[in-house]
Amino acid sequence: MKLLLHICCAPCLIYPLEKLRQDNFEVAGFFYNPNIHPFQEFNQRKKAVEDYSRSTAIDIIYPEYAPADFFQAVNLKETKPDRCSLCWSLRLKKTAEFAKEKGFSHISTTLLVSPYQDQGLLQKIGGNVAREENVEFYFEDFRLGFRKAHDAAKSKGIYCQKYCGCIYSEIERYKKKGQSLAL
Ligand code: SF4
Repeated sequence: MKLLLHICCAPCLIYPLEKLRQDNFEVAGFFYNPNIHPFQEFNQRKKAVEDYSRSTAIDIIYPEYAPADFFQAVNLKETKPDRCSLCWSLRLKKTAEFAKEKGFSHISTTLLVSPYQDQGLLQKIGGNVAREENVEFYFEDFRLGFRKAHDAAKSKGIYCQKYCGCIYSEIERYKKKGQSLAL
């Protein structure tokens, strides 16, 4: 079965790729993340995925960086949880559309690895967008491999980001640490 895997970052790719291959999926990747801000951070995450992909022989498609897609999708809904739900819909819908166009039977996402994302909602959104494109969303609790994969990423020197991706999540990170945003 051919599966198109939406990839959010290199550390989160490690476990799902290993597991899906064990389960006999033929996996290709799709790095569509217009949510990542700024461009330099996007490039750093993309480069980490490119470097890792060379050691694992996975083909990955890299659509052009398109931050406007993200800002249009979350317009007037910039707070959680609406923002994240729109962000996931955007990224998974594009994955499903590409999968349909290229003849993949399944899609999934490395976002299912993260304990910081709402797995139940991801499953629901993934199922909906996949159905609209006549492909299947493959759900598995990839969180089981989160710690091991992230430890492996650190030991291999793979870039691990410090915030989810969008400008709002970067601001939230500073607020969480109690830092003032005032000049
Ligand atoms: S916090 Fe993460 S999932 Fe939520 S909108 Fe920002 S980038 Fe997307």
